[in-house]
Amino acid sequence: MTTPHDVREQILATVRRFVQREVMPVAGELEHRNEYPHALVGRLRELGLFGATIPEAYGGLGLDCTTYAMVVEELCRGWMSLSGVLNTHLLLAYLLYTHGTEEQRRRYLPAMARGEHRGALCLTEPEAGSDVQSLRTTAVRDGDWYVLNGSKTFITNARHGTLYAIAAKTDLHAEPPYRGISMFVGEKGAGTRVGRDIDKLGYKGIDTCELTFEDYRLPSTNLIGGTEGRGFSQVMSALEVGRINIAARAVGVAAAAFTHAIDYARHRRTFGKPIAEHQAIQLKLADMATKIEAARLLTYQAAERKDRGARCDLEAGMAKLFASETCLEVAIEAMRVLGGYGYTTAFPIERYYRDAPLLIIGEGTNEIQRLVIARQLLQRYGS
Ligand SMILES: Cc1cc2nc3c(=O)[nH]c(=O)nc-3n(C[C@H](O)[C@H](O)[C@H](O)COP(=O)(O)OP(=O)(O)OC[C@H]3O[C@@H](n4cnc5c(N)ncnc54)[C@H](O)[C@@H]3O)c2cc1C
Repeated sequence: MTTPHDVREQILATVRRFVQREVMPVAGELEHRNEYPHALVGRLRELGLFGATIPEAYGGLGLDCTTYAMVVEELCRGWMSLSGVLNTHLLLAYLLYTHGTEEQRRRYLPAMARGEHRGALCLTEPEAGSDVQSLRTTAVRDGDWYVLNGSKTFITNARHGTLYAIAAKTDLHAEPPYRGISMFVGEKGAGTRVGRDIDKLGYKGIDTCELTFEDYRLPSTNLIGGTEGRGFSQVMSALEVGRINIAARAVGVAAAAFTHAIDYARHRRTFGKPIAEHQAIQLKLADMATKIEAARLLTYQAAERKDRGARCDLEAGMAKLFASETCLEVAIEAMRVLGGYGYTTAFPIERYYRDAPLLIIGEGTNEIQRLVIARQLLQRYGS
């Protein structure tokens, strides 16, 4: 009999093999050319990963959040950008299978699981990043339709994706303003315009774009869940998964940097011995490995709570905060271990060093994570 544990191990072994054989040999070159990895994305599709967390009833693999976090870690050991192709796609899927109507699930989830529809999450606007409530995109009801107008920015998968989860205001006067936000699902087409690709420090190869909605008409059946004003809480629950994804990415990138550092330290000799035998280097390796392990455990803890259906904004926030700060630290420590060579493009450390800062910003900056964590602590320890 196959147990869920066996399924997890099989999937992880498959992803690990894919990363070692197909991603690692080409990631550096594609990244430096800032080239969209069409072939690798095709392989993600063949491996069923576009349906990773989509329930089996809708054609997905039905992985739990913990297994998904492990998959993300493995992918990021090879190239973080690949996890970005999946992340907002699966957040859109989460919105549908958790908050959507049955008709919406049937209409979109099977095609998403097959990778025929690829999703993006459209929250951020030029004037609304951390402060989601101040978004300005509007959705005005017109009979059986909604008409959307507004501009989004920093939208990952906007160009190569075909399906958007869009946050828009259905009530401009709601108090507090978040009660006026609704989420829509809509296909790319008339009324959507993908603008420029944003040039980035890292996270290269995948599309992060401006996206405009101009008199974009959606049937009222595309309002996620069918009731206006629920968008903010829907998106916040999806962002718990998003934060676990970011934490898992951080563990993967940090683990990759550490692996290079320890391997290099064993072989590079100075003053007559491998640098791994200098205590200063050993201290670095010990700190790096300990923090990565702690980050991994926080990530699994948050994912396990999500799997149990428990509220996990505190745990996901802690995991995201600690893992992303650890990743940033480990990337620069790994660079120190490699000395001048770490600063060159001959090793992938410089890529990890450029990818890591996104993790302290995306899915809610680490300042916002601290606010979320503190709010929860104050409630939990309140008299
Ligand atoms: C590569 C990349 C990909 C992205 N992909 C997506 C995507 O697919 N979809 C999407 O919707 N968005 C995406 N984003 C946007 C990302 O989520 C936002 O950049 C992020 O939420 C921060 O918003 P902001 O950049 O507007 O910063 P701001 O909100 O303007 O914040 C600026 C600074 O002020 C701090 N700050 C703000 N408010 C407070 C406060 N109350 N207390 C203390 N400090 C505060 C912030 O922490 C930050 O340090 C992406 C961003 C990047 C860089």
